[in-house]
Amino acid sequence: MRILVTNDDGIHAPGLLALANGLRDLGEVVIVAPSRERSGASHSLTIDRPVFVHPTSIDGLPAWAVDGTPVDAVLLAFLELLDPPPDFVASGINRGANLGEDILYSGTVACAREGALRGARAAAFSVGNGVGYSAEATHFDAAVSCARWLVPLAAAHLPPDVALNVNVPPLPADQIAGIEVCRQGRRFYRTAYDSRVDPRGRAYYWLGGTEPDGLEHADCDVGALRAGRIAITPVQLDVTDRATLEAMRAWARPPE
Ligand code: MN
Repeated sequence: MRILVTNDDGIHAPGLLALANGLRDLGEVVIVAPSRERSGASHSLTIDRPVFVHPTSIDGLPAWAVDGTPVDAVLLAFLELLDPPPDFVASGINRGANLGEDILYSGTVACAREGALRGARAAAFSVGNGVGYSAEATHFDAAVSCARWLVPLAAAHLPPDVALNVNVPPLPADQIAGIEVCRQGRRFYRTAYDSRVDPRGRAYYWLGGTEPDGLEHADCDVGALRAGRIAITPVQLDVTDRATLEAMRAWARPPE
């Protein structure tokens, strides 16, 4: 099994090194990742300039640093850099949770989605700092153990067009309270811009806000992580809302 390890925190992030080393005896691990941090890049592509690629090696593993977005890196891995293409895309380990609506913004999760889109099996791994845990706490051991357990199972059982979004509490492995397969929840961010003025009198805005409220539904990713459990959510490429689709057939009648 050829495993592509990628991320959105950049090729030098400690979480990527931990994941690559954790998976190296499960298959042929290759690293293709953005050359710098691109968190929040979601599924974006670079189309307004060329993308340069720097071949390198990380802990003896073949690696390419891509001067583009996280999904640029995955796409280049599939279309140009790796032949044959990877069977599995493992993204992370991201520093910070990707729960609820984070999934929409996350480059980490987008990499796994792109892997699924390209026909591979895929999973994104994040360590959930900031969800009731200290922002400084970062323990990758539990996430690495989870990846070592989950990647072979997902490779064998995951259907096409689905990726796994895995969030692990930032706790030592012996303090993890279990594993929960659960749905995506909501974080309810209190997003706010800090509006400022630069030395030349121009207005600018810096995205900030305070910690999300994250309503604690017992059966979702936010609740599982808050309870100290690993949250695993299958996410699909098809974002159609089936219930509304059915309802719309009744009310969205073409104009007479
Ligand atoms: Mn990130």
